Amino acid sequence: MDKKEFEIFLDTYTNLPRQGPGNNESTKKALENIKDLPAHPLILDLGCGSGMQTLEIARNIDCNIITIDNFPQFITELNIRAVKENLSSKITTFNKSMFELDFEPESFDILWAEGSIYIIGLEKGLIEWTQFLKNGGYFAFTECSWLTDQISPEPEQFWATNYPEMKTVSENLEIIENLGFEVINHFTLPENAWWDTYYNPLKANLEKIAQKYGPEADSVIAEIYSEINLYQNYSNEYGYEFFIIKKG
Ligand code: SAH
Repeated sequence: MDKKEFEIFLDTYTNLPRQGPGNNESTKKALENIKDLPAHPLILDLGCGSGMQTLEIARNIDCNIITIDNFPQFITELNIRAVKENLSSKITTFNKSMFELDFEPESFDILWAEGSIYIIGLEKGLIEWTQFLKNGGYFAFTECSWLTDQISPEPEQFWATNYPEMKTVSENLEIIENLGFEVINHFTLPENAWWDTYYNPLKANLEKIAQKYGPEADSVIAEIYSEINLYQNYSNEYGYEFFIIKKG
């Protein structure tokens, strides 16, 4: 990425409610599946972005949350939001890569990863990250998944380029269970969790960058619109699945 491309990228993803599909209702619903927590649990939020889910967890339970993301702008946004809501004493943010984690083994009660485990890969994330999870601890994460075996050519082609590892929900359940985890619950994020808190605010940012940068931003804008339009047309064929699983 050259300097201009980076500036456009920054403007595109800055000041969004979040950086991937999701919403507070779904975060809370996932949290409600976790019933036998110790008092004051320690939580690790991986790929936290600007932290919509971090804040929702902090609002709902008495806990400490460590968050990591390798993009400093998002960490800054999360810190500002945490201060505004008086939640900063519960949240410690780290500008750190998910590929270089050095926490104590079995030190967390919960791992959380909304829209981020695909970056390391589902299976690898399940194996490597859960080293840091206590026995009997929970891992709640979302993963973009096929909702059908009958995939239309257009989404098949798009995802073959953008995320060839994408699996069906049942294939993902099989991976999780074969690694020895117990599936506590899973559910598909509602469509409004793609629009209201992610794609619509992103579209508003794209309109601003189109005006600010003109043709220089054309390719970035076209690429993101192709993803948005695909979801508009094929939301019945793929979606984000929330998985709540238990170790040991
Ligand atoms: N959990 C947030 C963000 C999801 S988007 C939400 O649901 O809104 C994925 C996030 O992973 C982004 O914030 C991105 O900056 C972060 N990310 C990408 N590569 C990473 C890496 N190597 N290490 C840590 N975070 C990474």
